[in-house]
Amino acid sequence: MAEGTMQKIVGLAKRRGFIFQSSEIYGGLKACYDYGPLGVELKRNVKDAWWDDMVHRRSDVVGLDCSIIMHPDVWKASGHLAGFSDPLVDCRNCKERFRADKAPRAEPGSVTIYRENGRKDGKKLEGVVPPQGYVCPVCGSGDLSDERQFNLMFRTSLGPVDPMQEIVNAIDDLAGMDTQARREKLASIIGQSAVYLRPETAQGMFVNFLNVLNSGRVKPPFGVAQVGKSYRNEITTSNLTFRTCEFEQMEMEYFVEPGTDEEWYEYWSQFRFNWYKSLGMRPERLRLRPHEECELAHYAKACVDVEYFYPFENPEGEGEWGELEGIANRTDYDLKKHSEYSGKELSYFETESKKRYTPYVIEPAAGADRATLAFLCDAYDEEVVDKEKNDVRTVLRFHPRLAPIKVAVFPLVKKDGMPELARGVMDELLGEGINSFYDESGAIGRRYRRMDEVGTPWCVTVDNETLENGSVTVRERDSMQQARIPREGIGEYFRNRLKTSRG
Ligand code: ATP
Repeated sequence: MAEGTMQKIVGLAKRRGFIFQSSEIYGGLKACYDYGPLGVELKRNVKDAWWDDMVHRRSDVVGLDCSIIMHPDVWKASGHLAGFSDPLVDCRNCKERFRADKAPRAEPGSVTIYRENGRKDGKKLEGVVPPQGYVCPVCGSGDLSDERQFNLMFRTSLGPVDPMQEIVNAIDDLAGMDTQARREKLASIIGQSAVYLRPETAQGMFVNFLNVLNSGRVKPPFGVAQVGKSYRNEITTSNLTFRTCEFEQMEMEYFVEPGTDEEWYEYWSQFRFNWYKSLGMRPERLRLRPHEECELAHYAKACVDVEYFYPFENPEGEGEWGELEGIANRTDYDLKKHSEYSGKELSYFETESKKRYTPYVIEPAAGADRATLAFLCDAYDEEVVDKEKNDVRTVLRFHPRLAPIKVAVFPLVKKDGMPELARGVMDELLGEGINSFYDESGAIGRRYRRMDEVGTPWCVTVDNETLENGSVTVRERDSMQQARIPREGIGEYFRNRLKTSRG
């Protein structure tokens, strides 16, 4: 069977140093990934572009960097301890464990066809879609267990208390208890030192609301932005870095006066949608999908997802819409909850109007890994250069702001002083903070193709004419056109190209 687009992207990502399986030499760890030398640059560029456009280029947004472990009461107030759980279901036919809310919908009572044990060569069976209205995402069977709740937060312990020792000490007592009492006893032992890895960065912004306000630089409407790791013990992980247990988020809480929230919600929905387009994402693979009433979190007044059409494989073929980012109108729910649990007044007093109010919050919450994966998939292209010769090039058409390497520098041949001159060009570009790469091995055409495959927008070649008149060749990745420019001032030339690429 021909390799699908996603398989090709996964292969390229590994071969060229974008994404590796974590702990690969030990057989890997499910849904854990490492970013290689080019991947780390790409992801960093995505995060920098976000920070630049969300914080540095605005006067109404400030940044924050909160700790991953927070006071456990934060998660009580936010509802994560009680409610941050997924409905989990087991398929009795193929044994897949999956999230009920992500399973394919089907009309209850209608017929569903599937294979015995989920095997391709298994007997064809006919079943009925259960009243829950979904079937197993892997085999299509409706023979499913009841839904169970599963907390997604990673728990660990903090401080000198060793819960393991306390459990050992309590073992005799536990032996005489029924299951419920045992669970309660164990929960109380573990609970003494239990802390959690944050499942989202957002709560750090809410609990620092007063700190940010009192440090004096802002008043509503204003935003607090943060980029950092979050952790969720996801049940279903899939498709490279799309859904993993450790991931990075880029979130912003925008505090506004109640009554102006709907306007700001519209503003941020459009702003965030356009951000992906401004970084070259193909508009036909992007959409804004408003949440239906039944999908909305109980505290949210409105929510819309920015979705990307990923080339994931599924039973219907290739391609699937997946969430890149959610923009939610969270009302005053979070500040009010934290006021209630902490006993601190989290509101704003407007001196001019002598009005006190609890701000509403508009939250654009994006994933750095999902965005990086989407930019990688979107950039992937196979271009027929010469049909007769069956010449096809693989090219990553990254926006210059995102490209891991901005400029590659080549000597045409490894003699006549060309390598030294080319290295001089690279050093000058590196000195300007423009990530550049030197390559002298193999035919020049091959070198161009290697750079196309990692998405380098420009290649500079030092050749005989450089020796004669001090000019170099600049080759464009997308058009493959070449032009001559003076060697002198090359740093400024590429600084300008990068600047104008912002649009
Ligand atoms: P999903 O419905 O896909 O589980 P979510 O709605 O729970 O996502 P949010 O809580 O809104 O996600 O988080 C904001 C963003 O963080 C998401 O849009 C996504 O880009 C990213 N994100 C969330 N969970 C993961 C994960 N397990 N792996 C990678 N990125 C994630």
